[in-house]
Amino acid sequence: MAITAMMPVYGRCEVAPVRGEGCYLYDADGKEWLDFAAGIAVNALGHSHPHLIGAIQKQAATLMHISNLYGAPDQQRTAERLVARTFADTVFFTNSGAEALECAIKTCRRHHFAAGTPEKFRILTFSNAFHGRTMATISVTDQYKLRDGFEPLPDWATVLPFGDLEAATAAVDGSIGGILVEPIQGEGGIRPGTHEFLQGLRDLADKHGLLLIFDEVQCGVGRTGHLFAYEHYGILPDIMSVAKGIGGGFPVGACLATEHAASGMVVGTHGSTYGGNPLAMAAINASLDIIDDAAFLAHVTEMGARLRSGLEQMIPNHDELFDSVRGVGLMLGLKMKSDSRAFVGHARSHGILLVAAGDNVVRLLPPLIIDETHIREAIDKISAAAAAFTPAMAA
Ligand code: PLP
Repeated sequence: MAITAMMPVYGRCEVAPVRGEGCYLYDADGKEWLDFAAGIAVNALGHSHPHLIGAIQKQAATLMHISNLYGAPDQQRTAERLVARTFADTVFFTNSGAEALECAIKTCRRHHFAAGTPEKFRILTFSNAFHGRTMATISVTDQYKLRDGFEPLPDWATVLPFGDLEAATAAVDGSIGGILVEPIQGEGGIRPGTHEFLQGLRDLADKHGLLLIFDEVQCGVGRTGHLFAYEHYGILPDIMSVAKGIGGGFPVGACLATEHAASGMVVGTHGSTYGGNPLAMAAINASLDIIDDAAFLAHVTEMGARLRSGLEQMIPNHDELFDSVRGVGLMLGLKMKSDSRAFVGHARSHGILLVAAGDNVVRLLPPLIIDETHIREAIDKISAAAAAFTPAMAA
């Protein structure tokens, strides 16, 4: 048989971690990597955080799973906590980011159905967006690599250039019911939307009765130095998808919505066997206990500024390779002048894990618990990797 036991959909690299501690990963031979990828913005508390472990262990020994057919006190408490802390009035829990997006898109669709405007079934989305790998989420992006071989896909999204408010304004017609946007594009290359662009989308939504959906799967949960990126901008969405950091490594996501936006989500319209299970709720609460704290969020802002300035100071020493730094908080992108994927691969051999993104950007998404020593180590390792990077490696 030629096919591998693990369906060969990933180009896996040589790093094979079996253990994690704080900001480091270790393989079976004890080889160590500084983890500035954090499972792609998932391990917000680093690896093996005692508070998260304790909460999961305790809950696993008490009650792991119940059906959503029953009352769910842990889920109720967690939903109330999120409602109290955000723009939202209601929450649906999922097991992943893509599922949170599925719920967001369904919530938007059902809102217009309930409002008697089912013809507003289309949504505006933006080029190079990444919203997940399900059929619905790949159908709302223009990224060819995600769609290739899966077409025909439903045609329910009008994809516009990210940041182009004029194009968004011109694209609104009677078929548009919502706008879906990552306030800060992650996979697309760490591109923060401008305040003007996101406020313009908010105004457009208000003017035409559209729902504004923020995909905060990557940029949410403390990464920007605010609990959610919408707070950084001071712009409220109607619906928001979150996942990744909210479970700190436990697979969980959520779709948050206002009462108005969720007007169509009545009994029977959506569901999930595992969504909102007590174990996942324990993980969310443990993560929020640590992250949703003013001093912790201030730490993220401070570490983000230090990491950024360290990278900026490094660039002139390797200006044949690096162009600039962009991003917010600890969601940073190092724009390269050549292939970022090759550099990320090379950096692994210098003991640091980074993530490549679109537009030849190296993503730095470290655990939010990093301190100055980790930043110094990261800059040293990236500098050493840059010094040893030859043009042939970029080819
Ligand atoms: N949305 C954004 C912005 C993401 O970055 C991702 C994952 O990288 C997703 C959605 C999909 O999340 P998941 O892989 O958990 O389905």
